[in-house]
Amino acid sequence: MGAMRYVHVSASGKINPALYVGDVREDGYHDLDIFFESLDIFDEIEARAVEGGEVSIVMQGAAGGVPCDDTNLAVRAARLLQERYGVTQGVELTITKRIPVAGGMAGGSADAAGALLACNELWELGLGRDELMELGAELGADVPFCLLGSLARASGKGEVLHSIQPGYLHFWTLLTFPEGLSTPEVFKRLDALREERGVHNSLEATREAADTLEELLGQPDNSAFAPYMANDLTEAVCALRPELGEILERISDMGLARIVSGAGPTIAILSEDYETANAVANHLIETVPEATIKRANGPAAGAHLRHSE
Ligand code: ATP
Repeated sequence: MGAMRYVHVSASGKINPALYVGDVREDGYHDLDIFFESLDIFDEIEARAVEGGEVSIVMQGAAGGVPCDDTNLAVRAARLLQERYGVTQGVELTITKRIPVAGGMAGGSADAAGALLACNELWELGLGRDELMELGAELGADVPFCLLGSLARASGKGEVLHSIQPGYLHFWTLLTFPEGLSTPEVFKRLDALREERGVHNSLEATREAADTLEELLGQPDNSAFAPYMANDLTEAVCALRPELGEILERISDMGLARIVSGAGPTIAILSEDYETANAVANHLIETVPEATIKRANGPAAGAHLRHSE
């Protein structure tokens, strides 16, 4: 047994200030030009050492619909470390969920990132962040970013990351919905829509806008980048969930800058300062009763150690 008995990690959810989808690659994934921002909405991952090699998990908080079996991404993360490094110890994971499930906020990936970090500590494997990010990429395209945190742009299927030094804080209001969307289904719908129209999508066409966004995100201004927020999945998300298109329109009519995060259905609204964001949140509670309204600020830290003993 290692000396460590208990490790507590916080893992942040993300939104995507922009998400451009290019062509389908030979491996079946889409080429992406994608921006990530960690928000201060955290899942808590607690890991307790157990004798023997068993990996178990308890989910608490708003974890409806998340499996507690071997398909849970945190369990897969712990198992991956065990297999790769011949670990004979086990772990009892407890996850307190605050990141909306299947909401386009990388909740599962955050838990995987948190479990990698926690078990690395618990089992005293001594892996650095780069090594954990490489392992994370085997679990899901968003996992490396969940370890890195803050603000980043990625290409490939989302795993070739580079950090952006944030210029300022961003004040977001989130609209979350009880029923999630499946990421593969949203991409499938996008493919169908594009095929119908015979459009060929090159990331070259959006490169300039994305470059401008990257530059603006690094400047000391908290909302100058608003006009460059974009998500190529929006149309597919609205095709699968028509009421979301109507809500997006309602928000635009209010003069607010909004995006769908990832494969939705979470909508993120950017405000120019803290007070405005709070006022927007209060207003939306009245005007969009079908959503749950949350305030969040970014960029926040990625998965990080809180406590160990
Ligand atoms: P992304 O934005 O990365 O596509 P998402 O935020 O839309 O993901 P998740 O919350 O990661 O979606 O959940 C996607 C699916 O993954 C869920 O339907 C859930 O059953 C499964 N899953 C497995 N493990 C977890 C976990 N620890 N937390 C949340 N979901 C998990």
